[in-house]
Amino acid sequence: MSIKAIRGMKDVMGTEVARWRLIEAVARKVFRAFGFSELRTPILEKTELFARSIGQATDIVEKEMYTFRDRSGDSLTLRPEATASVVRSYLEHKIHRRPGPHKFFTIGPMFRHERPQKGRLRQFHQLDAEVLGDPGPQVDAELMVMLTQLLQALELDNVELVINSLGCPVCRPDYRRALVGFFQDRTDQLCDDCRRRLEVNPLRVLDCKSEGCRAAAADAPATIDYLCADCADHYQEVKRLLELSSVAFREDPRLVRGLDYYVRTTFEAIAGDLGAQNAVAGGGRYDPLVAELGGEANGAIGFAAGIERLSLVMGAEPPTDRPELFVAALGDQARDWVFPLVAELRSAGLWVEMTSQDKSLKAQMRRANKLAADAVLILGRSELDAGRAIIKQMADGSQQEIELSQLGRAVRLLKRD
Ligand SMILES: [Zn+2]
Ligand SMILES: [Zn+2]
Repeated sequence: MSIKAIRGMKDVMGTEVARWRLIEAVARKVFRAFGFSELRTPILEKTELFARSIGQATDIVEKEMYTFRDRSGDSLTLRPEATASVVRSYLEHKIHRRPGPHKFFTIGPMFRHERPQKGRLRQFHQLDAEVLGDPGPQVDAELMVMLTQLLQALELDNVELVINSLGCPVCRPDYRRALVGFFQDRTDQLCDDCRRRLEVNPLRVLDCKSEGCRAAAADAPATIDYLCADCADHYQEVKRLLELSSVAFREDPRLVRGLDYYVRTTFEAIAGDLGAQNAVAGGGRYDPLVAELGGEANGAIGFAAGIERLSLVMGAEPPTDRPELFVAALGDQARDWVFPLVAELRSAGLWVEMTSQDKSLKAQMRRANKLAADAVLILGRSELDAGRAIIKQMADGSQQEIELSQLGRAVRLLKRD
């Protein structure tokens, strides 16, 4: 019996790893420019953290979390998203007592036990950025400018920023009532999930992908028509700053978020090439969550971007890497002579390959070709006796004889930047 990876979890390898590394490198560069510092939280947290933050009445907490008891009987959960952990850390280390804003990013795996389907993994990876301690609209705009710059740097062309305002605890109840009233006349069109959602989380009905629910929601009341004066001002200012920065966006009154704690600004980056699961990034303001977790609600906003999805649609290609030198040593004496030189070159940062077995020159050249090495160093008994080695450039086949005493210096020149 052979052991396979867990369903919905996959090995990331080869060119896919190169793409992920490029995404991460670009993200780190963009995050740095906006003053974000990296935070690495544990992937395991107490179940209570997610139950309290994400909300009991959500699909995530009800059926999708990887929750188990450890050997001491504590209930632990593999994080289904990063925000709750970032806020937990922010409060635990009393960062909220220092003047804000505090800007963090984190990169890593998240876990949800979803029904396996195309494009849905149970271990998936996210770039996550959060700003804590600033309730003002400028932060919202800055965060979306940052996301836009990130997506541009990754060369996603067919991508659109969609925004909405969800209101706040002052104005949301009015909207909620209007929405429930609207759907109560149309319950026969709703799916079973949404009939239940209508009681606990009616905004989620707007988010449902089932055809009946989408049709029923077509003329539903829009959140932005129910905003209180403060929420309306906030939303106006966010849009004004985006326009000032020449960031294109589309307003979508149906855009809601699946989690209970979101207020005011909410946004998604939609990639046209992805089909139904078309959001590459999503985020929004979640001021009440900080209070829910025991802090002061002084402003919180963030977004998460899916690394798997970015990798699917980005135009940017990672550079391919190849060895600078392949060493074809023939015979024990040549191998012993060259072995310390190879170590020295590697310590100077060159990628050097050398076969571990005594193979014919032909076989070694084949291997060098396969690896696409820039150059091959040929050293056999006759070269050793003559005190010279041969360096062959693979691009044009030209050969050069180099004195052994000069070899280290000559080969170092092969190093690429
Ligand atoms: Zn409001
Ligand atoms: Zn539905």
